Amino acid sequence: MTIKCKKCSTPSIIYQPYSGLHLCEKHFYEDLERKAKLTLRQRYPIKKNDVIAVALSGGKDSSVALLLMHKIFGNRPDIRIVAITIDEGIAGYRDESIARAKELTERLGVEHIVKSFRDEYGKTMDDITSEKKLLENHFGDDKKELGACSYCGVLRKKILNVVARDIGATKLVIGHNLDDEAQTVMLNHFRGDVERMVRFSAASELDGFIVRVKPLRKVPEKEIALYAYLHDLPMELTSCPHSFGALRKEVRRMLNGFEVNHPGTKYSLVRGFDNMVPLLAAGLEVSDIRNCEICGEPCNDSICQACKMLEKSI
Ligand code: SF4
Ligand SMILES: [Zn+2]
Ligand SMILES: [Zn+2]
Repeated sequence: MTIKCKKCSTPSIIYQPYSGLHLCEKHFYEDLERKAKLTLRQRYPIKKNDVIAVALSGGKDSSVALLLMHKIFGNRPDIRIVAITIDEGIAGYRDESIARAKELTERLGVEHIVKSFRDEYGKTMDDITSEKKLLENHFGDDKKELGACSYCGVLRKKILNVVARDIGATKLVIGHNLDDEAQTVMLNHFRGDVERMVRFSAASELDGFIVRVKPLRKVPEKEIALYAYLHDLPMELTSCPHSFGALRKEVRRMLNGFEVNHPGTKYSLVRGFDNMVPLLAAGLEVSDIRNCEICGEPCNDSICQACKMLEKSI
């Protein structure tokens, strides 16, 4: 028996356990796009003459984020959209996704900038991970939990911020989905890191930092995968050889289990966190923004995290 869409009588293509709705293709698109627009309106309003940089890895999440920004703002003459791809230098993995990112920007007619770890830092992620000592020095016993992805994330974020600022971007869109957000909330709880929780959710302009915008933070990963597939967007075909993140994987498994037994858990976690942040922020002394003594980039210490990491790798 064909199951019909709850909003019209055409066949459904997806069931959302958390909403109890069966949706057809048209209403699924509408639902996902409505969630993204609402998130933008409520948390990151796009203003006249904004320059929107989109961090585009070439995976499904960032590709959907770029497609949506193009769909929503592509016809606005006052808004410029630029995709930025970072080549971390991961053989057999990144080359493929950069090619897909290039294909998508050409298809949409969006400006595309590619920057590499090799050009900016003189070394690739493959070089960094081959220096086993480096990871041990920096992370000690935690290296399996943090390891390569922490290096990669900090170094990538720095280039994204610099490039976005250089092109005059006023927003930096990243493709984090509901699953990423719920996992990060849990991980921050596990680490007991309150300041990080507040910084993680900040959508305000701090000197030298471009506002990070997450239009997909209320869209489950599975729905993004389906949306990407139906729009013929890139999907991850290979996985990164350096991905450790054992703790995140454990949290991901745990949350997926909860979601099956208690649909809506991921939404509740993120919603609860959003409600909690203003209360935490009110009682928290957030460190001043300074400029890194080595590279001059904004940070909350005398030396930024990227420079600390790179110093250890010399
Ligand atoms: S999985 Fe980790 S190391 Fe690989 S690209 Fe992503 S953040 Fe970088
Ligand atoms: Zn329908
Ligand atoms: Zn620095």
